[in-house]
Amino acid sequence: MSSVSIPPPACLLRPLEVPLRHLFGPGPSNVPPRILAAGSRPIIGHLHPEMYEIMNDIKRGIQYAFQTENNTTISVSGSGHAAMECAVFNTVEPGESVLIAINGIWGERVAEIAERMGANVHRLVKAPGGYFTNKEIEQAIVKHKPVLLFLTHGESSAGLCHPVDGIGDICRKHNCLFLVDTVASLGAAPIFMDKQNIDILYTGSQKALNAPPGTAPISFNDRACHKMFNRKTKPASYFLDMTHLSNYWGCDGKPAREYHHTGPVSGFFALRESLAILAEKGLEESWKKHKEVAAYLYRGLEDLGLKLFIPERDLRLPSVTTIAIPSGYDWRELLAYILKHHHMEMTGGLGPSMGMVMRIGLMGYNCEKNNADMALHALADALKNCKRSKA
Ligand code: PMP
Repeated sequence: MSSVSIPPPACLLRPLEVPLRHLFGPGPSNVPPRILAAGSRPIIGHLHPEMYEIMNDIKRGIQYAFQTENNTTISVSGSGHAAMECAVFNTVEPGESVLIAINGIWGERVAEIAERMGANVHRLVKAPGGYFTNKEIEQAIVKHKPVLLFLTHGESSAGLCHPVDGIGDICRKHNCLFLVDTVASLGAAPIFMDKQNIDILYTGSQKALNAPPGTAPISFNDRACHKMFNRKTKPASYFLDMTHLSNYWGCDGKPAREYHHTGPVSGFFALRESLAILAEKGLEESWKKHKEVAAYLYRGLEDLGLKLFIPERDLRLPSVTTIAIPSGYDWRELLAYILKHHHMEMTGGLGPSMGMVMRIGLMGYNCEKNNADMALHALADALKNCKRSKA
């Protein structure tokens, strides 16, 4: 008689099956063999000296990718959301005023994160695809006197790449920290953390960096460090507390790194490799490639009679292209057709852009003209074979 009353699940007695897919949505993107191989290297201890070396390399890679000399530059153990929470939890105290620019889902999410930790949240809202002038931003800062302004650089739910120039200076003038989300844009569109006076910048591993999901680079400059290391209250999250994380990443000048949490060792191997690929290729080359392939995709989409959701070409996010849903079609049906017949992921909108757009992401390793051709071919086939209502 067995002592266990719950039997082993039959599903786990079958082998793992994972289909091969073209990940042409807004992320995760396909991971090149070199990065997959790095992630499958034998595990070492997260506090071994070799691991510290690898983390130091990651830090240097992030500094290059963000174009910053900030010492407090680390990778959070978690997805982009972990970096969002890390940024807000550490730099804002309950009751403080924050200003969140919302032109798609990511501002909405950060507003909710800030509300949950007790901040006094002010929303500056535009419809998906809208953008804010520096004047609008400055007026709102003057009105609400926030300690932090949040802006999404690559709004992946709307396909918009928001201009950043000048906003950091406005924030400095009004003693406000400038927090920028580059999860969907890093490596695909230019960003210069130091030159643009961005105080906190984060990204994710799984988009143009092409590493598996689960690690999230983040950097804090001296202004941000001054605010977060002189708080009256402790941040609500122990896991995301930058006092501990900056020690774990060797940023606090202390002779020893203490155990805080077990870092995702394989995830760090893969992230290091993805940053190495970016360093070998060069940022400028990567930005150029994304722009060229995106332009090629725009032409192909227009040739199919499709309309791009962001009319201003210069504001389109090169990594994620949004298409207005063609009239008479059910977008869910088009996407399901493409997945079933072409083994290709494209996605619909998200949050406020749901039902407005379909999205094609060609990021990093996936950013090639032949992939754009494949995506266009799949779309053309779906448009031919899916029902179209008379309306
Ligand atoms: N910000 C942006 C702009 C994103 O595109 C995403 C992911 N789609 C996130 C934040 C959240 O990242 P994650 O899904 O890795 O938590």
